[in-house]
Amino acid sequence: MPQQVYKLLPETIETMKTYYMKTLQSPPQGAVFRAKTPNAVITAYKSGKVLFQGSDPEAEAEKWADGKQASPKKPKNNGKNNSFAPPETLLAGGHIGSDEAGTGDYFGPITTAAVFVKKNQIELLKELGVKDSKNLSDDSIRQTAQNILTLDIPYSLLVLRNEKYNKLQKRGWSQGKMKAILHHYAITNVKSKIDSSETEGILIDQFCEPAVYKRHIASENEQMHDRMFFMTKAESYSIAVAAASIIARTSFLKEMDHLSKIAGFTLPKGASGKVDQAAARIIKSRGQEELNNYAKTHFANTKKALNRQ
Ligand code: MG
Repeated sequence: MPQQVYKLLPETIETMKTYYMKTLQSPPQGAVFRAKTPNAVITAYKSGKVLFQGSDPEAEAEKWADGKQASPKKPKNNGKNNSFAPPETLLAGGHIGSDEAGTGDYFGPITTAAVFVKKNQIELLKELGVKDSKNLSDDSIRQTAQNILTLDIPYSLLVLRNEKYNKLQKRGWSQGKMKAILHHYAITNVKSKIDSSETEGILIDQFCEPAVYKRHIASENEQMHDRMFFMTKAESYSIAVAAASIIARTSFLKEMDHLSKIAGFTLPKGASGKVDQAAARIIKSRGQEELNNYAKTHFANTKKALNRQ
């Protein structure tokens, strides 16, 4: 049963008792109160500990997040969801990181990489210049990826090409779901290559709320991996996510080279007016159907390109 534990201030617990007045049940020994809502059973103890258990404990718990007692050992994080913020020991130890590229680009696939970095490889990767790929030029990203791949670094790279992407999109998959599933399988692949005792856990460069991620995974009858953490801008904090980001980005660049070659001209990245022009050019020379093999056709760029015909 999912549960959430908070340590709350005494005045917050008093406010809660009033708030849940109509749903109070007889409290177990040592408890201040117990309440039952459709989302969760809430049990508050004299120590300040409050337990939320049930089908959706977060829905109740988050109402009281402002009343949390300051904890001296609170892990450093940049997210709102503390239970999914990575502990310092993860960032400093062996861990799996994953990231994707191409999601905001009209042309080209989504590429997703998961990478396992051992604790004793962190310094070496730093020396090789593995850092946030957003701050690197395309050329140095390619070079750094090559350097990473000469090392003994287990990784998995998944490429969701446009044809399949468009098929899934028409079947009702959101881009968020596609990303979640790609990350999940990339991580599964890496986990199968390593001994789980070597890793402190898994860190995803956060693109959606962890609860939403979990739902996407469950919708394909899969289960979220243990010891999974989420963090925005994770590539700036985790060497494994930074390496994953570089491998995913390099793969995206290669795919774009390939697509440009078969299109007969350089396809622009992003989703700007230049992209509309390029899409219009493909429609004109090869027909609209052909876009399916080059682009994420549900983007507004398709309509804009058609208006140019
Ligand atoms: Mg990312």
